[in-house]
Formats: sequence, C-alpha cells, structure tokens
Amino acid sequence: MHARRSGQPGAHGRGTPGAAATSDVLVIGGGIIGLVTAWRAALRGLSVTVVDPEPGGGAARVAAGMLAAVTELHYGEEALLALNLESARRYPGFAAELTEATGLGLGYRRCGTLAVALDADDRAHLRALHALQLRSGLESEWLTGRECRRLEPMLAPGVRGGLRVDGDHQIDPRRLATALVLACERAGVVFHRAWAARLDMAGERAVGVTGEDGTVLHAPQVVLAGGSTSGRLTGVPEDVLPPVRPVKGQVLRLTVPPRHAPFLSRTVRAVVRGGHVYLVPRENGELVVGATTEEQGWDTTVTAGGVYELLRDAHELVPGITELPLTETGAGLRPGSPDNAPLLGPSGLDGLLLATGHHRNGVLLTPVTGDVMADLLTGAEPPEAARPFTPARFAATTATAPAAAVSTPLEHSA
Ligand SMILES: Cc1cc2nc3c(=O)[nH]c(=O)nc-3n(C[C@H](O)[C@H](O)[C@H](O)COP(=O)(O)OP(=O)(O)OC[C@H]3O[C@@H](n4cnc5c(N)ncnc54)[C@H](O)[C@@H]3O)c2cc1C
Repeated sequence: MHARRSGQPGAHGRGTPGAAATSDVLVIGGGIIGLVTAWRAALRGLSVTVVDPEPGGGAARVAAGMLAAVTELHYGEEALLALNLESARRYPGFAAELTEATGLGLGYRRCGTLAVALDADDRAHLRALHALQLRSGLESEWLTGRECRRLEPMLAPGVRGGLRVDGDHQIDPRRLATALVLACERAGVVFHRAWAARLDMAGERAVGVTGEDGTVLHAPQVVLAGGSTSGRLTGVPEDVLPPVRPVKGQVLRLTVPPRHAPFLSRTVRAVVRGGHVYLVPRENGELVVGATTEEQGWDTTVTAGGVYELLRDAHELVPGITELPLTETGAGLRPGSPDNAPLLGPSGLDGLLLATGHHRNGVLLTPVTGDVMADLLTGAEPPEAARPFTPARFAATTATAPAAAVSTPLEHSA
C-alpha cells in the first residue's frame, strides 16, 4: 500500500505531462458511482485518484433521486431487488456518515411513495405489481381512490386506487454528489481534472490511464466507472468493454411557492398511457417531474415533445401543477446494461475492475456499490447480494455500446 498523500484536490492537474503518478487505486469517472467507490476505498486506507474533468457531474445532476426498491420492482429482476433492498437498508447509516464527514445535508427524506392508477388498465397493472410485491415479501398497501386523495389532496379526482409504500424514500442527487466530492477530498482522494484518453497496459495487465492532457496516472488497481460512456474507453480490449449504453431521460423541475405548500407530502407516481410519470417533492420546495426513457445514443437535447408529454401526464395526475413556476428542464444519460443491473467487480482483464451499468437505480445503489467496491479493492468478501452482478455474466457477449443512435418512441421511467 502506498503512503497516503496530502490529498490536495486537483494536485495532479498541475502535474508534468508524461510523468507517471501512482496511487493504490485509480478511478476513471467521478459520477456518484466513481466517487462513492473512491470515498469508501480511501476510508479503508487506500490511496485513491479520481480522473474526471468535472467530478460530481454526470447523471446525478439530472436524476430524481427516488430510492424506490419496491415501486421500481419489475418482473424477472428478483436478484436486482435483493441488491436494491440491501442498498436501501444501508441508506440511513450511509447518509448519516456522509453528512457527518462533510457537514452537508443531502435532502434525504423518508417520505414514502404513493403509486396510483388513473383508469381501469392502469389499475390492473398496479394490482399485478402489488401481487408481485407481496409475493416478494415487500411491504405495500392497496388503497382506494378516496384513500389516496385523503393522503394527497392534490391528486386528480379520477384516481382509481393506488399502492402506499412507506419504505421507498428519496434523496437529492445533486447534494449527494456535492457531498461525495467533499468527503473524498477530506479522505485524501486526489482529483485529476481531465478526461482519461486511453487505458494503459503492461503486457496483459491494466496499469493506469493516459489523460487527454498527456498526464500518465498509474495504479495496481483501476476502476472503470465512466457511466454511460464506460464501453467507449480507448485501449480497453474489445472482449472486456462493458456492454453499457446511454438511456436518455428528460426531467422537469418546478417550484412550490410557500403559499401552495405542502403541495405533495410524498413521491407520487403513476403509469399514464403505458408510460411512467413521477413527482418528487423536495424539502426545499423543488418538485421534480420525470422522466422519459429514450434510446437516442449520447444525445441530451431537451425536446418540446419530451417536456410536453411529461407536463401532460403529470397534469393528469396532479392538475394543480399548472399553477407552479417551471424552473428547469434537463436531460441525462442512464448507464443501461443488457439486464438493467450493474456490473460490479473484476472485468476479466487483470488490474481492471468495473463499477457501471446502474441504469435507473444508480442513486439507490450508491451505498452498497461503495461498500462492494471497497471490499473487492481490499480483498474482502463482498456481501452475498452483490454476487450475481459480476461482469463475468456477460463474458460471452461482445460489447454492444451503440455507435449510432437508434430512435424509439418516448417512454417514461426513473
Ligand atoms: C432522468 C434520470 C432520472 C434518474 N432517476 C433516478 C432515480 O430516481 N433513482 C435512482 O436511483 N437513479 C436514478 N437515475 C439513475 C442514476 O442517476 C444513474 O444510475 C447514476 O447517476 C449513474 O452514475 P455513474 O457515476 O455510474 O455515471 P455518471 O453519472 O454518468 O458519471 C460518469 C462520470 O464519468 C466521467 N467520465 C466518463 N468517461 C470518462 C473518461 N474517459 N475520463 C474521465 N472521466 C470520465 C463523466 O464525466 C461523469 O462524471 C436517473 C437517471 C436519469 C438520467
């Protein structure tokens, strides 16, 4: 293990181009997944460098921050459910530790979620989801339309029923990312603010990266946590490139003026015309409305169609939103994988580990990912729930990150 450095942020940014700087671990990507990996590894005594031109950026700048293990349950994703629940269980302790390390609030609200149906088809869909939740041993209560409106009076009068899930919470992903950057700095993580241009190899082993600024950063263990671009890093052998693709999501932010508060007291979501729409009320008055699901390559344009559909569906659910100021629109890229689950662990190339593919659950999965990656980096045994998510499950698949965008109709989800 190398001696811990002083950890001045950006120290490598002033380094001599071409000179190799070493640490125990080099993390490529400073989104929430790379940051939590770096923080947790540094707390275990490893020296860590993160390479990213803008640490704390990425999909977390857009994400809604629902911690929705139960309401995001999908058929065939039972293994992912176990990992999601494991992370949800770790959230209270994780959030308290992060706040203690930084003095920063995270907007962590244990407010619960109400998933409602607006017509008979939606109600049948929700009934099926409820049955699946109960079969999976999850806590979820069926409510009549009237009971839903008693909980959330701003709901449309036409609501036909819903599921009350008190265990699905929320956090503000922007505040989470900001806190993780500070926690990393305080734990001695070094930030190199540049793009990693290529992976460096020595024989059959990954040994680090060369930055676009010419700086060489070396480490015995390299973690690729580049979000939706993880499958594109030059120098990574073809059969090791993670099969991760960008899944675009558009999101709106509205503000609830004090005279309208409390507008909603918990996250409210619904399936409208087959698409998911959700409204996430933050403690600071922000109301996040999301999100589209689009296979559009790396495009992050906010479109009139996306904004229109989100407002139309959200208005059907909560008509009063038309009174609220629309303060922001945005689009981000979920790192999607073929089975919608993350890739955590050895890549198949010595010296290179993967922490990517978190798709629509990256915020929820942040605590468990940090712990799993720190376990792997220190030779400890990761938790049982992480076992199914080794990248080896895709070993026979060649990388499928799309070179060209494939356009599909808009759908909505987290
Ligand atoms: C609209 C939307 C809504 C969402 N809602 C939710 C939600 O409610 N709940 C939930 O749990 N999750 C949600 N998510 C998903 C979650 O935001 C993501 O899964 C998570 O943020 C992914 O984090 P990441 O660090 O893996 O990737 P990213 O956030 O994409 O970060 C990757 C980082 O790597 C850096 N990078 C990439 N390549 C290189 C390179 N070559 N060199 C240096 N740096 C590099 C980038 O600059 C970036 O900072 C949502 C996502 C979107 C888009």
